[in-house]
Amino acid sequence: MNKSGLDLNNARRKEQIETMKKIITDGICPFCHDFIDKEKPAYHPNPIIVETDFWVVTRNAWPYEHTREHLIFVVKRHILNPEEMKKDEILDLWNTIKKVKKKLKITHSTFLMRSDSTGMTGATVQHLHAQLVVAKNKEPVITRIG
Ligand SMILES: [Zn+2]
Repeated sequence: MNKSGLDLNNARRKEQIETMKKIITDGICPFCHDFIDKEKPAYHPNPIIVETDFWVVTRNAWPYEHTREHLIFVVKRHILNPEEMKKDEILDLWNTIKKVKKKLKITHSTFLMRSDSTGMTGATVQHLHAQLVVAKNKEPVITRIG
């Protein structure tokens, strides 16, 4: 694994691969860079929708096909596994989900969180994050989870 914790094998779009290559060259974790340290220029193009003491929520730069919303929830600490979350981070995650769903008037969704090994989970970024996906219509939303 590179220093940035990125897995190019799981990237889905050409522009995504180009951005990830730049991040790997820069040798930083993109989530720490953009959402914790808030360094500029940011790699992530979309604004923050909700921010709490423990989580940052934004729209995925490369959303899955057939989604009305594809949000990422990024924990504001560089950890790789859900088991590393502290009690405050866990409780705040559920409150953050509620806030986001209310703000964006989300009535149906799927929530998923991968853990560590990008090679085995389909993740592109190791830094712990979760996805909240809202289907646009009856077309299936397909992603790799392993
Ligand atoms: Zn990080």
